[in-house]
Amino acid sequence: MSNRTIAKSFKAGDRDDTGLFADLDFICPLCDFENSKFILIGAKNFDKIDGDFETDQECDYCMKEIIVECR
Ligand SMILES: [Zn+2]
Repeated sequence: MSNRTIAKSFKAGDRDDTGLFADLDFICPLCDFENSKFILIGAKNFDKIDGDFETDQECDYCMKEIIVECR
């Protein structure tokens, strides 16, 4: 079974010198529960999130590691 999914939504907040906080929603492909994450993205990764990227997140329900693609 794949532990990879595509983000339902990704909303980045304001950037500052250290980084930004972003809201990331995705459906876990393993248990089908919707996760809403509040993630910190460091300033050194700003150029990364301007394009497609992926992030490793732990599902809040089944505790498995999920690779979330943000496009
Ligand atoms: Zn899960």
